[in-house]
Amino acid sequence: MSSESKTRVVIIGGGISGLATAYFLLNMAKDAGNKIDLSLLEKENRPGGKFIARMEQGYTVEGGPNGFLDSKPWTLDLVRSLGMENTLLPSNDSARKRFIFSRGKLVRLPESVPSFIKSPLISIPGKARFLGELTARPTPPGADTTVAEFGRRRLGQEAVDRILDPMVSGIFAGDPDKMSLRASFPRIAELEEKYGGLFKALVALAAERKRAKRRGDVVVSSSGPAGPGGVLTSFKGSISDLTDRLAAELGERVRFTSTASRITFDNGSYTITASDQTYHADAVILAVPAYEAAGLLENISPKASELIGQIPYSPMAVVGLGYSESRLGSVPDGFGYLIPGVEERRILGALWTSSIFPGQRAPEGKVLLRVMVGGARDRETPGLPDDKLMDTVLSELHHTMGLSAEPEFSTSFRWERAIPLYTLNHLDRLTEAENSLAEGIFLAGNAYRGVGINDCVRESEKTALKVLEALL
Ligand SMILES: Cc1cc2nc3c(=O)[nH]c(=O)nc-3n(C[C@H](O)[C@H](O)[C@H](O)COP(=O)(O)OP(=O)(O)OC[C@H]3O[C@@H](n4cnc5c(N)ncnc54)[C@H](O)[C@@H]3O)c2cc1C
Repeated sequence: MSSESKTRVVIIGGGISGLATAYFLLNMAKDAGNKIDLSLLEKENRPGGKFIARMEQGYTVEGGPNGFLDSKPWTLDLVRSLGMENTLLPSNDSARKRFIFSRGKLVRLPESVPSFIKSPLISIPGKARFLGELTARPTPPGADTTVAEFGRRRLGQEAVDRILDPMVSGIFAGDPDKMSLRASFPRIAELEEKYGGLFKALVALAAERKRAKRRGDVVVSSSGPAGPGGVLTSFKGSISDLTDRLAAELGERVRFTSTASRITFDNGSYTITASDQTYHADAVILAVPAYEAAGLLENISPKASELIGQIPYSPMAVVGLGYSESRLGSVPDGFGYLIPGVEERRILGALWTSSIFPGQRAPEGKVLLRVMVGGARDRETPGLPDDKLMDTVLSELHHTMGLSAEPEFSTSFRWERAIPLYTLNHLDRLTEAENSLAEGIFLAGNAYRGVGINDCVRESEKTALKVLEALL
């Protein structure tokens, strides 16, 4: 095939979604015996988007994700395809210990029914309310509900305040009163629909696992109603090893410091105006945040642009703090903690990074914490000037962890629009938007069907397949 007859594809956005889509598309096209002329435009001078890490004074501080769960296959399959298995870094076993700051102290998140019964996280009346789950009214078939409404109906207000609220802030930095259950936690919505309730789902899934074990099948711990299963996994260098590697595979197809500003359709193909040059393409994949995609779609798909432009984002700051172990009363042991909104604190929680990945993210004898600030309900704190942000974070760590030592190292990352929020009926609006996209235009990225790395990789593969089917 001559280079003139190659199908031209432009991907806009070089985060995990854009990079993975490019990688999958090239591999699928190769397997199908087709050639694609692909360019990936990334406005920054580095790949990765939210995948970012700073190596300073022996610390490795990630400003976005710190890992993915190995209970889902998508990221691991990609890692295997890239031949990167030997760079994987599973988290320490003690990272299973997760805490909630509740009623003035850190309480371990229970992992089993007996530990839940003994846990002070939920009061005795609150625990008794859980029994109402067995007879709770189900969500009407096909209807959406907010995470908070679902939780109140099935488990009671206390469960919403003390368990669901921190779960929503841990993943989306979002507000459970606004978030769509079907879009944000599809597995939970699916379990309710399939089994009629969460306890019924727990029992049925446990029985299924038992049967599978008896048959000798390999049983992978997967997410159930009690939360996501699996081991948090990263890479020896940092999470950015994955996006760096994808970018290296794509080579010169990745155009850095190339900001796309406009897409038009002329003479049967798309013209993409970017800061470095003008590109022409038969298909364009938008792997940028929704507000950027909305701007780029204005000329070619105004309805989709309007719908996608409504997706809100939560702002966040991530503050990395390094301490000498000898200056701390006790060394944090576990994953870290989240703070429910009802506690009215000014941080979302803290990750005990050097305990999650011992010996990998902080020098010997040092402790690294990553403090999460902001979210849908606190748009102010992440925008504070550096000194005020630091004062706030240190005073909150003192209040919540009893930590009074001064850090010997600090660094911060700010995301004005960190994570997309899937609000009520998000999936209906998304379907309408996708149906009104011009032919040859595709969406990828975390704004649509999951914000986790696994979700982004899964959706990238699906998008690549759709593009291939449409073009070849
Ligand atoms: C603080 C934080 C912590 C997180 N922790 C976890 C975690 O531990 N585990 C997990 O699974 N997930 C986590 N997530 C979520 C996950 O990191 C993201 O959902 C995912 O990285 C998003 O990838 P993306 O490629 O869809 O978008 P992005 O990473 O936002 O990539 C979009 C890219 O598009 C580029 N771009 C934008 N506009 C243009 C333009 N006009 N022209 C060219 N390029 C453009 C941007 O520069 C960027 O590189 C976290 C997110 C944040 C913010």
